[in-house]
Amino acid sequence: MKELTRSYAIVQDDADPLKHFKNHFYKPGEDLIYLDGNSLGMLPCATRERLQNVVDEEWGRGLIRSWNTGWYNRSDVVAAKIACLIGAKPHEVMVGDSTSVNLYKLAYAALFYQKERKVIVSDNLNFPSDLYIFQGLVRQWGADYQLRLASSVDAIGIDTNALAKVMSEDVALVSLSHVVFKSAFMYDMEQVTRLAQENGSMILWDLSHAVGAVPIDLNGAHADLAVGCTYKYLNGGPGAPAFLYVREDLQEKLETPIYGWFGQNNPFAFSLEYEPAPGIARFLAGTPPLLSLSALEPSLDILLEAGMNRIRKKSVEQSKYLIRLAEHFLFPLGYTLASPCSEEQRGSHISMRHPEAYRICQALIDPGVGGNVVIPDFREPDNIRLGIAPLYNSFADIFDTVWQMKSIVTEKKYLPYSSSRKGVT
Ligand SMILES: *Cc1c(COP(=O)(O)O)cnc(C)c1O
Repeated sequence: MKELTRSYAIVQDDADPLKHFKNHFYKPGEDLIYLDGNSLGMLPCATRERLQNVVDEEWGRGLIRSWNTGWYNRSDVVAAKIACLIGAKPHEVMVGDSTSVNLYKLAYAALFYQKERKVIVSDNLNFPSDLYIFQGLVRQWGADYQLRLASSVDAIGIDTNALAKVMSEDVALVSLSHVVFKSAFMYDMEQVTRLAQENGSMILWDLSHAVGAVPIDLNGAHADLAVGCTYKYLNGGPGAPAFLYVREDLQEKLETPIYGWFGQNNPFAFSLEYEPAPGIARFLAGTPPLLSLSALEPSLDILLEAGMNRIRKKSVEQSKYLIRLAEHFLFPLGYTLASPCSEEQRGSHISMRHPEAYRICQALIDPGVGGNVVIPDFREPDNIRLGIAPLYNSFADIFDTVWQMKSIVTEKKYLPYSSSRKGVT
């Protein structure tokens, strides 16, 4: 079958309308295939130049004067670009702090707003940091508060009925990852938002593994709240500032638990009394990280130019191609699919399980093995995650990755590696 040959991949790449976007990214090495853009996106070339300029000109020469020549409103400029990617209005998005901290702020605000409701609902596929935040809140708010998790039967997805079962009148907040970090399972945002709101609960979406990977329409789904990460598919760089979204009509009703001067009505009046800024700005706390904020902007421009619909179309084609190749070359070798089969229920990464997953990952990353160096990531206990970032991944990358995963098992190249885990997997 022609699909199973490398020349088929080359033909797909030639016909790819997004193929030139690869050149916008810094090349990490000739034979390196990077399939971890869902964990840390690649470096756009424009970001290197931008950072050089921000450091030399804005900081080095401009010094404090730069606050009035671009720094003060830079978070608004960046927020407006993120808003375009998530179906929000520019003044509904704020950039700054980490995803975890923003999640805390919004989950707290939801509890504070509905004090008669004392339950947070999430699921057991959610990102651990999110669950830690909820556990902390429940402990801080008191013994009558509770975190309730819907359970996955297959460790891949969550049935909407399972979610419906854990809903009750005392649920203040439903908070879920739109795309789940391990399996890439994707919730139907509109349907689940409706489910929560019909119950009188607020919904808070974590978009970390979805933004930049799938088209998102928060306004279309009438979502209440959202947070998201920018160092994954948004290529903002390690520790890049996260964002949060609060629907327009809720902004004046909600309170941030952290009263800081950047969320004050007029920070430079230096008033001794806190008065919240109108609108989304009240969810800021301290000074935005200007260097990281500046580093994020060029990548957002690239994503907006490529367009989320085109990115999604290619992502779906590449994911289907990967699964098709895996069925033929990998499943007979003990690999199994740990992501949903249907693309409507899947983000832009594919998880595969194998009893030797950890050692296979090490062999993929090691240049000494021969062939291409492939960088995926490993998630306990036995998941290899292959992140597809259509802006810089080609069909040939996918073919070569499958080939490498196949030969590592058939030729037992994983045997020399140890199963004991490194600090970051
Ligand atoms: C990556 C990710 C985070 C990251 O949180 P940080 O506070 O930025 O480290 C949080 N939630 C989800 C769902 C993620 O995928």
